[in-house]
Amino acid sequence: MGNIKELDENTINKIAAGEVVERPSSIVKELMENAIDAGATMISVEIEDGGMKSIRITDNGIGIEKEDVRTAFLRHTTSKIKTAADLLCVTSLGFRGEALSSIAAVCQVELLTRTNSSMEGIRYRIEGGKEVGYEEIGIPVGTTFIVNNIFFNTPARRKFLRTAQTESGYVSDIVEKIALSHPEIAISFKTNGRVRIHTSGNGNLKDVIYSIYGKEITDNIIRLNEENDFMKITGYIGKAIISKGNRTYENYFINGRYIKSNIISKAIEDGYKFILMQHKYPFTVINFEINPEYLDVNVHPSKMELRFRKSEKIYPMISDWVHNALIEKPNIIDVKLHQDIEKKENIKYTPEPFETKRQKLFDERDKSSKYTQNNVVREETAYHNTSASDSVNPLQENRNALSLEQGKPIQREVTDVYDNFLSNIAKDKHKIIGQVFDTYWIVEYGDKMYIIDQHAAHEKVMFEALMEKRKSKQVSTQMINPPIILSLSMNEANLIEKYLDNFKEIGFEIESFGGQDFTVRGVPSDLYTLDSQDVLMEIIDNLTNEAGKMSPDILTDKIASMSCKAAVKGNSKMSFAEADQLITQLLSLENPYNCPHGRPTIISMSKYELEKKFKRII
Ligand code: ADP
Ligand code: MG
Repeated sequence: MGNIKELDENTINKIAAGEVVERPSSIVKELMENAIDAGATMISVEIEDGGMKSIRITDNGIGIEKEDVRTAFLRHTTSKIKTAADLLCVTSLGFRGEALSSIAAVCQVELLTRTNSSMEGIRYRIEGGKEVGYEEIGIPVGTTFIVNNIFFNTPARRKFLRTAQTESGYVSDIVEKIALSHPEIAISFKTNGRVRIHTSGNGNLKDVIYSIYGKEITDNIIRLNEENDFMKITGYIGKAIISKGNRTYENYFINGRYIKSNIISKAIEDGYKFILMQHKYPFTVINFEINPEYLDVNVHPSKMELRFRKSEKIYPMISDWVHNALIEKPNIIDVKLHQDIEKKENIKYTPEPFETKRQKLFDERDKSSKYTQNNVVREETAYHNTSASDSVNPLQENRNALSLEQGKPIQREVTDVYDNFLSNIAKDKHKIIGQVFDTYWIVEYGDKMYIIDQHAAHEKVMFEALMEKRKSKQVSTQMINPPIILSLSMNEANLIEKYLDNFKEIGFEIESFGGQDFTVRGVPSDLYTLDSQDVLMEIIDNLTNEAGKMSPDILTDKIASMSCKAAVKGNSKMSFAEADQLITQLLSLENPYNCPHGRPTIISMSKYELEKKFKRII
């Protein structure tokens, strides 16, 4: 007698359950997806003890026909596809017909369901794959699944579950992702009776983001809305300030399906290149609508991964769209000293009594002398682009704006002109106030004070200049005499040999001297001020670590780190003229807001903030 036997259905289901049902969150994911496929506009999820004790999911979808109830729990039974050909254009979230059979194999399940066409609903109970009840019952249209005691019949697997709190966290993650991918569905999530997530289902993604992540995140997101023949992307991406140390905030969905994809993650992160600090990951909620023909969703049983048929097209599209959205709008971090919301209208000024006096004094002095205090400062520093004749007395401006003499509440006049610190018109009106801590420059403009980090700014300017030169192949080399002689290890020598052309491209003039020795006769002129040998060795060290991966990208990273080294450090004095030039250069860049490592270059604080702090505004 042979040894090979066919497994019984129950055993097969238990094995399949191993793939589909890993923990309570996998059950929640499958059942919520079923509810979405059933056209629900409301889904409520309640769990107890992290879902290990019970999970209850109710929807107002189409329900399951009486005669389909038992079939639905068999393996590979589905209403969503009929033939293999349908796999190529699946639009539903489910299609494998494995979830219900798998869940029922390892849990105690109760199903309540009714369709529109039926007067009565069905209450069906199945435990460990065995039917334990089937009866008619009066219930509303829709479906409720109650799943108790996960892995009650496979105790070994139960041992792999974590604490209730951890499991509840996993469930919460799934509910969040699904809520974000379906703002048109009202979703609620309760754990041990406490409401954790509640979305209104009004279709507004920003509202969902607010209810899940709160105000700080919602205040710092940028809208994405792009489309071409190939795909459409909508959603929000976070500014650098709300980035995280890991990828948990990177949400993206393809055709309503929450997935994980290395290609998409990398493409998004590429869009953030030089905007985020190293080892920081963005906040995103992006919906991709891609023709199902270009996708293969049939990769993993839990369907979290998917393959693209045209990934080479998708990658650059995504990174460009993300990048462009990020640099489109001014992205200056606004510093708030207090928590309450800024109200722009009807700001009440309470002038101090001494101010009225001081004001009078200034007025009189203005009349009697053309060299007011401020004009003197101006002449000494001569940092402004504006000619003397059209320069405005900043104090005068200030006074006009505040109307202190009248002591009446006034409304500030802030025009659009003032909104964009970077615009050409704005530049002429920047008032460079001075440097603090030998590092930061304060610039007044409109109703804001801008603070610029001279090191980050310089770094950014140098970086862009180097990149520009490299692009236009205008890298210049500064010859050095005597040349540097490098005696390298075999490994290092091989690397330098291999990448000689690349080094040339960034401005190094290196020759092999025979054996493992090299002469460096020229260095990039922008880096001339640095210890060239150090810079070169650092690049070689880095290359050793990333052996074999030399690419234009790595070169770019090197340029970034070189320019960082060459840039003026914080804690050094700079003249007004130098600062003026630096700021002008910085503000003319496409993205002036971050240094190549993602640190901010400019932050701002509004007059309102200060007035609030000094209690002039109540
Ligand atoms: P799949 O979702 O891959 O089709 P499932 O095992 O998850 O497989 O579900 C089997 C079938 O049960 C589905 O195809 C669907 O017809 C039905 N079903 C499951 N859940 C629901 C629900 N909440 N509302 C209506 N029908 C449902
Ligand atoms: Mg399903």
